[in-house]
Amino acid sequence: MIVAGGKVYTPDGPREVDVHIDGERIARLQLWSSPTGPDVVDASGLWVLPGAVDAHVHGRDPGFPEKETFQTLTAAAAAGGVTTVLDMPNTLPGVAMREIFEAKRRAVETKAVVDFGLWALLRSSSTEDDVRELAAAGASGFKAYLGYAVRRSTGQVLYSPATLDPDLEPPASYGTIARLAPALRAAGRPLAVHAEDPSILLSTMTRIETYADLLESRPDLAEGVAVAAVGELAGRLGLRLHVVHLASRAGLEALRRLRGAVVELSAETCPQYLYLSEADYARLGPVMKMYPLVRGVADREALVAALKAGEIDTVGSDHAPHTDYEKLHPQLAEAHAGSPGVQTLLLSCLQLAGPELAARLTAENPARIFGLASKGRIEPGRDADLVLVDPTAKTLVTPEWQRSKQRLAALDGQEFDYAIRSVLLRGAPPAESRGQFLAPAGLGPG
Ligand SMILES: [Zn+2]
Repeated sequence: MIVAGGKVYTPDGPREVDVHIDGERIARLQLWSSPTGPDVVDASGLWVLPGAVDAHVHGRDPGFPEKETFQTLTAAAAAGGVTTVLDMPNTLPGVAMREIFEAKRRAVETKAVVDFGLWALLRSSSTEDDVRELAAAGASGFKAYLGYAVRRSTGQVLYSPATLDPDLEPPASYGTIARLAPALRAAGRPLAVHAEDPSILLSTMTRIETYADLLESRPDLAEGVAVAAVGELAGRLGLRLHVVHLASRAGLEALRRLRGAVVELSAETCPQYLYLSEADYARLGPVMKMYPLVRGVADREALVAALKAGEIDTVGSDHAPHTDYEKLHPQLAEAHAGSPGVQTLLLSCLQLAGPELAARLTAENPARIFGLASKGRIEPGRDADLVLVDPTAKTLVTPEWQRSKQRLAALDGQEFDYAIRSVLLRGAPPAESRGQFLAPAGLGPG
C-alpha cells in the first residue's frame, strides 16, 4: 500500500514523500512520484501525521459498562486519530495484582478497535512482589491515587479518602511509594500520581453549591505541594516520574523546580486545561467538573505558554466518561468528575500547537516515555499508524459527533480548523478485535 501525495510529518519535520507500507509496517518514504493502482491512497492536499498515543484514558472496562466499554472507548479513539491508548487502572477491580491485570487484558482484547496498553494500580496494601509481577505482565506504568480509598471487598477505587468503614482501605500515600521504591526502580516504568495533596484537600473541605465553592475546596496549592512531594520522592529514590494532568500554574512552578532533581521526569497536561477556564462553567455547567479542576485564565495561559515552550512533554486526554445522570446531577457536589476527551485530543493539539509540535506531544513523546518502540514516528520499520488530516476543513464538537458512550464533553461547542479524513492502524482501518495489547520494551525487566 502507498499513501501518496500528502505532506508527511516525520521526526525531521514535514516532507513531500509517499509512505510505502509493507504489511503492518512502514517500508520506506520516497519523494512524491504520483503512483497509481488499487493500493494507492490519495493523500494530496492532506497532512499525514503519526497515529496519536493517548497515555491517559479511563475506559471503565471491566466494571462500568453504563459509562463506557473498551469497544466504545477505542472507537472514539480511532475516530479522533488515536491509534494507541494506555488505559488507567481504576477499573473494577482496581488493577493492583497480576491476575487482575491478565483478566482485564483478556476481557478488553477482543473489543479493542486500536492498540492498547494497561496501567497498574498502587494500593496502600500493594507489595513489592505485586509491582514485580505487574511489570513482568507488561504494565505501562504505575499509578497511585493519593486520597482515593479502595473498597476491600470489590477492589473499587473511590473518589474519597477512607472513613471509619472497615471495608475501606486507606489511600496509597507518599509512604506507599517510598516503601515500594526498590521494586518500582527495578521495574523501570513511569510512576504517575494523582497529584492533589489529600491533607490539604481535607483541610479545605467546604459545602459545594457553586463552581467557586469547588475551587475553594480544591486549591491549586494541593497540586503544587503534591508535585513537589512526589518529585522529592522520585529524586531521592531514583524513580521515573510522569506528572499527569497538570492543571495549574502552581503545579507548573513545582514541576520547574524538579528539573535536574528527578533524573527521568516527564509531564502531561490535558486539552481541557489548555482551552477552558472557570468562566466556561456558566456555559458548560457540571459537564466541566473534573479533578483536578479547570481553573483561572492565568493558569490556562501559563500552561499554554509552557506547552509551546517545550516544557510539557505530552498531552493526554484524561478521557473519563460518566452517564448523563451522573454528570448532570442537580447538586454540583454529587455530579461525577470527568469528561470524555480521547476523540478531541489530536484536533485540539493541532489547533493550539500546529502539526509538528502536535506530533511530538501526542505521538513521539508518549511512545518514547512508555517504551512503545513500534509507535509514535513515521519512519521505516515502525507500525503504519497514520492519520490523514484535512487542513482546509473544520470540525465542530457536538454530542452527535462523539463516539464515546458519554456524549456531553467539556470541549462541546469547540470548532477546530482541521478534520480527520482517515486513520490507519498497522496499515489497515481500525476495527473491533484488531487492537493488540502492547507491553513496553526496553524499560528494565519484563
Ligand atoms: Zn485520569
